[in-house]
Amino acid sequence: MTDKKTNHMHLYFDARSVNEGFARMVVSAFLTEMNPTLEELSDVKTAVSEAVTNAIVHGYSTEAQQVELICDRNEDELTVTVSDRGVGIADIPAAMQPFYTTKPEQERTGMGFAFMEAFMDEVRVESVPGEGTRVTMKKCIGRENGR
Ligand code: ATP
Ligand code: MG
Repeated sequence: MTDKKTNHMHLYFDARSVNEGFARMVVSAFLTEMNPTLEELSDVKTAVSEAVTNAIVHGYSTEAQQVELICDRNEDELTVTVSDRGVGIADIPAAMQPFYTTKPEQERTGMGFAFMEAFMDEVRVESVPGEGTRVTMKKCIGRENGR
């Protein structure tokens, strides 16, 4: 019998900054059974933090609702999806440019998407103004160790 290694997790949490750490912990726990290196673990936690922070500070800058977090394992590939039903992004390519920020007054540096792209193998952003934003990130885990 082939034992395909898959796993799935889906949760919603309030869009409050206290939950940024919570989201990081949940994804770390999900990742544990994939035997990540410390570097991979740190990369994924950073990317998740950036996506969740964006949902909270940009998506729901006026009215806090809920952030949706989905993790999927397919063998050695991890997919993390972070979604909000907030304001959305009008120009996605511009928003993804390093140093682009619409909140410079909050001392944001505009590096969130750049970090997500640096630390994950693939980052896809879908967004509709007035409807919300979905960030889908993929990373192969443990491959460099020949596992
Ligand atoms: P930093 O992440 O360095 O604190 P930042 O959040 O402004 O700064 P990015 O994370 O790269 O930088 O995001 C760039 C811009 O994209 C944001 O300033 C914001 O305008 C827009 N953006 C990102 N995520 C969302 C979202 N979930 N909803 C609405 N707008 C978003
Ligand atoms: Mg950001």
